[in-house]
Amino acid sequence: MLSDRIKKLKAYKTEKSKAKVRLSSNELPYDLPTELKEKISEEIKKVPLNRYPDPSCGELKEVLADFFGVKPDNLVLGNGSDELIYYLSIAVGDLEGAVYIPVPTFPMYEISADILGRPKVLVELDEGFDIDLENSLRALEENGVILSYYAYPNNPTGNLFSREKIREIRKKGVFTVVDEAYYHYSKESFLKEALEREDTVVLRTLSKIGLAGLRVGVLIAKEEIAREIDKMRIPFNITYPSQVIARVVLTEGREFIESAIRSVVEERERLIAEMERFEEVEVFPSRANFILFRTPFEAKKLHSELLKRGVLVRDMSYLPRLDRCLRVSVGKREENDLFLEALEESLHFLTMSEKST
Ligand code: PMP
Repeated sequence: MLSDRIKKLKAYKTEKSKAKVRLSSNELPYDLPTELKEKISEEIKKVPLNRYPDPSCGELKEVLADFFGVKPDNLVLGNGSDELIYYLSIAVGDLEGAVYIPVPTFPMYEISADILGRPKVLVELDEGFDIDLENSLRALEENGVILSYYAYPNNPTGNLFSREKIREIRKKGVFTVVDEAYYHYSKESFLKEALEREDTVVLRTLSKIGLAGLRVGVLIAKEEIAREIDKMRIPFNITYPSQVIARVVLTEGREFIESAIRSVVEERERLIAEMERFEEVEVFPSRANFILFRTPFEAKKLHSELLKRGVLVRDMSYLPRLDRCLRVSVGKREENDLFLEALEESLHFLTMSEKST
């Protein structure tokens, strides 16, 4: 009885392999400081788990609004930004209207369109991983596109698309979702446009700044737009513990978050410089908390050699344009050192084994 639409779906893939060093999901590598964890435990003890949480997340919204420099009425909260991607895919225009997605990118935009049976217009990025404007504009007009998704910076390529190209596409009457999951590592944003315009919204998340386990995503939009999308929200989508923990961390843990972000950016630059020293490795520039790289070897083989040495990264070679590419998340200094060591050994091993065959 299930629809073919659902049977044909490809499930969202995550890396489940066990490893000493996990650099595969773009999480913050640092756990919260003990003092902050103690404060969280105290607050959690007071939570009446037999009660429903505040459906409007009032207190958390106040704190988030302050954190993002907007008003609480500009926000819609989701169970991760993944949930907000679903809402937007349902909310914008008729479901017959096509969704434009420059690829390769984060898979949820495609998955949510597929669930709804919405037509997709996938246009490959150019060689520099920027939007191919000419092909995009042509495809847009031919296919009746009304909604578009941009990961900004893009996952897994790590770069920022050209702002002007995003605006050119928007000029064709296309609703623009700018997914800024990695904003804290790029500091580039469409926030101002989202607050001024009815055709642009921004997505942010707490997942990449230390709270992936909470599942709190944030949509930022003009009040009128936020109010409409908020009507679609599944009641109580942000659990009581998540509301309490996010509030505590964003009030008392700001210094921790800021310094963790600084460390990741520093480590990203160090890691890029170190990786560039390997002759076999092509490293792509990154404005996020991960780095995409290519080697002459089959990505599956390199992935498995790294895993044998205790380091888990993500194989990206199944995506268009990403032949022989892997993505490594920036970890703690010592984790990055272990990755570099494992990379050196794996490259050496693969070079030797190719020579002997
Ligand atoms: N957007 C992008 C571009 C991402 O890379 C990710 C996570 N990998 C998400 C959204 C999902 O974020 P969340 O944990 O808030 O659902």
